[in-house]
Amino acid sequence: MQTITKIVLASGNRGKLNEFQQMLGAMDITMLPQSDFEVDSVEETGLTFVENAILKARHAARISGLPVIADDSGLEVDALNGEPGIYSARYAGEASSDADNNEQLLRNLSGVATENRTARFQCLLVFLRHADDPTPIICQGTWEGFILEEPRGEHGFGYDPLFFVPSEHCSAAELPAGKKNQLSHRARALQVLAERLKSFC
Ligand code: IMP
Repeated sequence: MQTITKIVLASGNRGKLNEFQQMLGAMDITMLPQSDFEVDSVEETGLTFVENAILKARHAARISGLPVIADDSGLEVDALNGEPGIYSARYAGEASSDADNNEQLLRNLSGVATENRTARFQCLLVFLRHADDPTPIICQGTWEGFILEEPRGEHGFGYDPLFFVPSEHCSAAELPAGKKNQLSHRARALQVLAERLKSFC
């Protein structure tokens, strides 16, 4: 089996690149940003996180010619039938900011009692050895919590200020970055992926 030493991350987010490099660096894997290969963004036309992650991974693998990891993540709220889900980044409209999306979420949950505000972050990670890889490795990480009535905390991004983490008695935006990176949906999915990659790295 071919040994893998370089993997492209199909994301433009520097923070994610560092997180992935930290988790996989111990295995002598170098993570490269897709911008090194001039990979543009691809339209996320899938109806599930996993479909969108595969679309991104395949596109980056096709252009870079290297193995790729792609992730797709979002928030799933039970009282809203799983919304915002794959539309998390654009819940309040195409060019919406994090603040717009958070306001939209609070509006849609107004009147919903605390015990019914259960939610989770989902992260789907896909690893493709090459663009036509028929057997992608797919790993999922989830992070359970509740949606608060108002934002709390200054750290993080996205829905962090509204996401209450029961084990820590605070919102995700009140957690130091290091702690969030241990607990989060992305960290959990990455742990599973790191384990699965050991067989050929
Ligand atoms: P992406 O797939 O990681 O780009 O995430 C899509 C959207 O999901 C983001 O724009 C956020 O709105 C939301 N999201 C994903 N992960 C997190 C997180 O760790 N905290 C808060 N929001 C998140």
